[in-house]
Amino acid sequence: MKSVKIENVSKQFGQVHGVKDLNLDIKAGEFFTFLGPSGCGKTTTLRMIAGFYYPSEGKIHFDDRDVTLLQPNRRNIGMVFQNYALFPHMTVDENIAFGLQVRKLPKSEIKQKVDRIRGLVHLTQYGSRKINELSGGQQQRVALARALVIEPDILLLDEPLSNLDAKLREETRIEIKRIQSELGVTTIYVTHDQMEAMAMSDRIMVMENGYVKQIGTPQEIYNRPVNRFVADFIGETNLIEATIESIVDDVISAKTINGIVFTGQKHNSSPALSHMIGDIVFISIRPESINQGTGDNTLTGKISFVEFTGVSVNYIVDFVDFLLKVMIINTYGQLKSIGEDITLNIANESLYFLGE
Ligand code: ATP
Repeated sequence: MKSVKIENVSKQFGQVHGVKDLNLDIKAGEFFTFLGPSGCGKTTTLRMIAGFYYPSEGKIHFDDRDVTLLQPNRRNIGMVFQNYALFPHMTVDENIAFGLQVRKLPKSEIKQKVDRIRGLVHLTQYGSRKINELSGGQQQRVALARALVIEPDILLLDEPLSNLDAKLREETRIEIKRIQSELGVTTIYVTHDQMEAMAMSDRIMVMENGYVKQIGTPQEIYNRPVNRFVADFIGETNLIEATIESIVDDVISAKTINGIVFTGQKHNSSPALSHMIGDIVFISIRPESINQGTGDNTLTGKISFVEFTGVSVNYIVDFVDFLLKVMIINTYGQLKSIGEDITLNIANESLYFLGE
């Protein structure tokens, strides 16, 4: 396993920038995810690491080795794509063995390695099955086995679960994570699915329009988003525009247009916030951090939407100058109806102040 260092990398396609000024250190053995909406630059970055694209500017290192302009087949990487790219008329074992045959390993060694990796992906009984006789989930595990059997320094996975249905996606996600931690191989995972990214990764890079918006652990990204894009893209959040009214020690108060005052803690602010009285802030509040009843930041509004999901009761509550999405974890109490007033509170600790 190797570390990956990306320094000041940009990739330009004519007038379009795929990726701009990217700096990134991925540690050896880390499960690292590129996350963002379609077109944000995830695949472009992955392709530069694989060697299918060369950067327009900047350098890429695997450990101390400069691989910026190295051919893909000389990087010792394993890759798995969304569409498997398996040979359908060949057996599972023939598919897994492919990379080893290209490397001209002795037959006995190939058999030993294929047997081991087939066991690791839980396909022990399937060695002589044809690919087109397997389910989508099994095919994806063959693709994973084929990438891993060459003992890559770095494993690259580009949306490997997107062709699977929801249940299989979850099962395969758990399998990939198990295999990755058993082998300890440095893994870079591309997805636009934030749940998948949160559940699998040691760290995540959130991208938008070719730029990095935040790099951090799933907890940091979820609990401490540094801008509105990340707050909104990862999970659900309420973003309320307000003006800073006062700052006393660690306590910030900010007022909305219609005069609702929110009070929270200064240490729950993004680095980009300048903390001047009169400045605009965006207050980020997760729906699940809002409680029914009185407490810190008590406010009463009118219910405009109710939904019972089993796990939770979800409300949208109207406060005239903003709407709040509220998620009350199922308390088995009486549901409120549309048009009724509801009193809510938000702990000071649960407000997060964003500057951009
Ligand atoms: P998706 O999730 O849809 O695959 P992505 O985040 O992987 O999206 P990229 O494929 O990296 O996004 O694309 C980033 C930007 O670069 C987009 O604007 C895209 O249109 C552009 N781009 C990517 N590859 C090329 C190419 N070969 N030629 C021209 N433009 C490209």
